[in-house]
Amino acid sequence: MYMCLEGCKQSFLRCRRFIGLDGCFLKGYYGGMILAAVGRDPNDQMLPIAIAVAEGETKDSWLWFLKLLIADLGGKDFCQTITFMSDQQKGLLPAIDELLPNVEQRFCVRHFYSNFRKRYSGKALKDLMWKAAKASYHQEWEKTMREIRSINPEAHKYLMRTPPRHWSKSWFRFDSKCDVLVNNMSETFNSVILGPREKPIVTMFEEIRCYLMERWARNRSKMIELEAGAVLPNIKKKLLKERERSRFWMCRVSGYMLFEVYNRNQTSEQYTVNLDAQTCSCRRWMLSGIPCCHAITCYMDRKLDPDDYIPHFYRKEAYVSCYEPLIHPTNGQNLWETTPYPDILPPPMRKMPGRPKKSRNKGTYEKAKGANEKAKDPSLVTRKGKANNCIICKQVGHNKRSCKSNANTSQGETSSQAATQSGP
Ligand SMILES: [Zn+2]
Repeated sequence: MYMCLEGCKQSFLRCRRFIGLDGCFLKGYYGGMILAAVGRDPNDQMLPIAIAVAEGETKDSWLWFLKLLIADLGGKDFCQTITFMSDQQKGLLPAIDELLPNVEQRFCVRHFYSNFRKRYSGKALKDLMWKAAKASYHQEWEKTMREIRSINPEAHKYLMRTPPRHWSKSWFRFDSKCDVLVNNMSETFNSVILGPREKPIVTMFEEIRCYLMERWARNRSKMIELEAGAVLPNIKKKLLKERERSRFWMCRVSGYMLFEVYNRNQTSEQYTVNLDAQTCSCRRWMLSGIPCCHAITCYMDRKLDPDDYIPHFYRKEAYVSCYEPLIHPTNGQNLWETTPYPDILPPPMRKMPGRPKKSRNKGTYEKAKGANEKAKDPSLVTRKGKANNCIICKQVGHNKRSCKSNANTSQGETSSQAATQSGP
């Protein structure tokens, strides 16, 4: 079953061309999976586009889902201009290659690191891998990769097997104006539909439709108080961070709008900025559309306000226009028309081993992170620890069944005394 509401589709067509793809398990009786395509609205929040229920994350089901999605969004030519992000799911990659060859594809770096960590652990490698992913220009990425090679040549070889255009900002194209490294919008959507995921399929779709309808209505009135042309709050936050960083930079003028920007602390870092063309050689400005700290330094030098140079797709009007399309209300089953077609039957059931889980499957890296947090937080330790405390001797590490003092009392007082006396 596939659902792409006209309102969602129209909203996406007014946003940046970036789609996160992900699959998550259904928690209901019949099992199966939800495949979802989630975009980003002008305020950098999730914008669900289409969802489907399939029997699993196979190449066939991704092919079927993507074909419908591509047709809905306006055909292959348009979809070639979209950037797709995924968790490198098995069936998904060949499906994208088949339908949209040469399309810009990114892999969620959190997921990519979690696979990397299974073979090559350690904080030094972790930091370097993330540094390589966050590097915004080729030279920085190459330098970081050389450092990785000097620590562990095998880890370097492993990383080089995945082309960096999939996982490092330094090789991303500028088309999508979105520089994210993680598929967090898809994760947010999966957690939002946690409740509906336990329901039978039609009920689940209905609850998701209601959620989307109300979300659209809420968002339509959300930014109404902002003044005309205002930069949206989440974008403003990012710009503020760049403004703070700009105090470490100074600029020298070359042409009226052409500068070189160098670090105050005399590091070797230096970039060229062209305010007319809106480019900086660090590439971050072109990746996100938000002026980088180097550009801000130059704007300040020219007594110009960087806020005025935020592109239109990050402003109030873009947000209002994005949520203008309506998700229309629908009638209940009492008003449905009877069709001549046979009733739809439930899908073939695949029983999964074990008790059904509700929370998302975490990667090993996230599990380790969670454990560290628990170790730091004493309240979490005692709450968790209580279950493992022995109720007889109150000691940690065993329960009443394997408790030594329990064994002693059950044998009677005299023998327990004898045992303690004849001990070591
Ligand atoms: Zn820059």
